[in-house]
Amino acid sequence: MKEAGEAGPIETRCPSCGATVVYRGLDNNAFFPFCSKRCQLVDLDKWFEEEHRIQSELKDAGGRDGGGNGTTS
Ligand SMILES: [Zn+2]
Repeated sequence: MKEAGEAGPIETRCPSCGATVVYRGLDNNAFFPFCSKRCQLVDLDKWFEEEHRIQSELKDAGGRDGGGNGTTS
């Protein structure tokens, strides 16, 4: 008889490439929920790019206070 609630391998999908990932503990799946380090980095990269894009958009839209090379006198 098997006890209910026993933690078996968890099957999920890699958010990056969609491959099936079987989780058997952090020792075996350091990149969980990603299937590999590569996919983890790809996702981080996407996230970073997005963040960067938003920040530069904000800078473009925002006013320039205390401009560096103002030629006002
Ligand atoms: Zn993947």
